[in-house]
Amino acid sequence: MESHPLFQHSEVTPTLDEERHIAVKRMYTIFNEKFLPLERIAEDPRLFQAETEAMFMFDSSLAVKVSLTFRMFSNMLTGSGRSHHLPIVEAVENGEIGGCFALTEVSHGSNAKGMRTTATYVPETRQFVMHSADFEAAKCWVGSLGKCATHAIIYAMLISKGTNHGLHSFVIPIRDPKTLKPYPGVIVGDIGEKIGLNGVDNGFVMFNNYAVPKAAALDKLGGVDDNGDYCSPIRDPKKRFGASLGILSGGRVHITSISTNYLVKAIVIAIRYSAVRKQFGPENAAEEMPVLEYQQQQLKLLPHLATTYAMKLFSVWLGELHVTITINNMIGVEDPSAAARGMELHALSSGAKPLLGWAARDAIQNCREACGGHGYLKGNATLAVPQWIGPTTHHRIGNARHNCTINKIKSVQKYPLILYILLHLPSTRLKPSEQ
Ligand SMILES: Cc1cc2nc3c(=O)[nH]c(=O)nc-3n(C[C@H](O)[C@H](O)[C@H](O)COP(=O)(O)OP(=O)(O)OC[C@H]3O[C@@H](n4cnc5c(N)ncnc54)[C@H](O)[C@@H]3O)c2cc1C
Repeated sequence: MESHPLFQHSEVTPTLDEERHIAVKRMYTIFNEKFLPLERIAEDPRLFQAETEAMFMFDSSLAVKVSLTFRMFSNMLTGSGRSHHLPIVEAVENGEIGGCFALTEVSHGSNAKGMRTTATYVPETRQFVMHSADFEAAKCWVGSLGKCATHAIIYAMLISKGTNHGLHSFVIPIRDPKTLKPYPGVIVGDIGEKIGLNGVDNGFVMFNNYAVPKAAALDKLGGVDDNGDYCSPIRDPKKRFGASLGILSGGRVHITSISTNYLVKAIVIAIRYSAVRKQFGPENAAEEMPVLEYQQQQLKLLPHLATTYAMKLFSVWLGELHVTITINNMIGVEDPSAAARGMELHALSSGAKPLLGWAARDAIQNCREACGGHGYLKGNATLAVPQWIGPTTHHRIGNARHNCTINKIKSVQKYPLILYILLHLPSTRLKPSEQ
């Protein structure tokens, strides 16, 4: 990377198109090196995080593109799909196609249950018909969809025989892999320039009665049979829900690591700079003092250094838990505690994603200020702050904790971490009379 012309940092801001192009070229350059095959990740899950961190330190768009196009997509297919989806995983591994993950819609982000994209099963043709009723039902914000993805994991309401069975995932071909032109019935595009992370082409997609084979359903945990009757290998809907939660937690675990990586970079820059930057000093002294010697500067930075260590230890642990669950899922390891572990991962990642995101955001602002005027120079990478992390951290656990009286238990059901703590930690477990 140090000597490769594609990986040299530019001193001028590229145009949006250039930024998108560079990110894709870098992504395939890294991908073609095949530094880390799946077998090595299975042997040591921490290698996965080490590789992501290395890419991240260089270019956050690169790390996010690699993760969305290849990793997250394959993980979803192996976690929620079945053996007939393996050729798609192989095509991703060979770089023939690229994926993305599409849950958010124009009118619904936090409220996933309100999603309005539908997948209606037609037994006569054994197809699902994907449809977006209007623009508000368009999938949006989807990373890597704007220009590149050939396939998308689409979350849609599964409708069969007139019954809505709720949100299910489907792997949907969006663009021809050779021409990158969308298929008829698919309207896809780029949502435009963001305030950061512009190497990532976030996009939108709508479907106009777009028919796909029944095999598009990622129905390992539940789906319809050929006649359209709903069935699931896990009878108990609660257990089914628990098992599916672990699969969905990947994105949140990833953002937990991303927040940590941003902060690691910023705190190192700010502390190193403070150690060499000299201002003022004892009267008549030959030299001024490094600003890091001043208590005020230490108070500004050192608590965040401690936070960085805590975040790093936690996010490495959480990442390892997630990779282990994912790999067990892939290779079909029988794990009687899978549902409980999926639930725990869901709760922890739901709480950690906003908490670590907010901690990093605030700490990075302090790091920038600690660098004085140089904190505002683009060459100082502390500027590459996660402006985008705030908008994605929407779990409102602060409000939830505030509202969390026993009487309001129903109102906190949306907040997975709070609910998990109330129900699973002995000291806070509800007495029967209070339930
Ligand atoms: C850089 C970036 C990349 C993304 N990538 C993807 C992707 O690849 N795939 C994908 O599917 N999505 C993606 N998203 C979308 C992201 O998941 C959503 O932005 C997020 O879920 C929030 O949804 P929303 O934007 O609709 O906000 P809303 O849900 O509309 O929230 C707006 C505001 O209202 C608050 N709010 C909402 N409900 C309540 C409530 N009940 N009580 C109190 N306050 C509330 C929220 O906290 C927030 O402050 C991405 C977003 C960003 C910024």
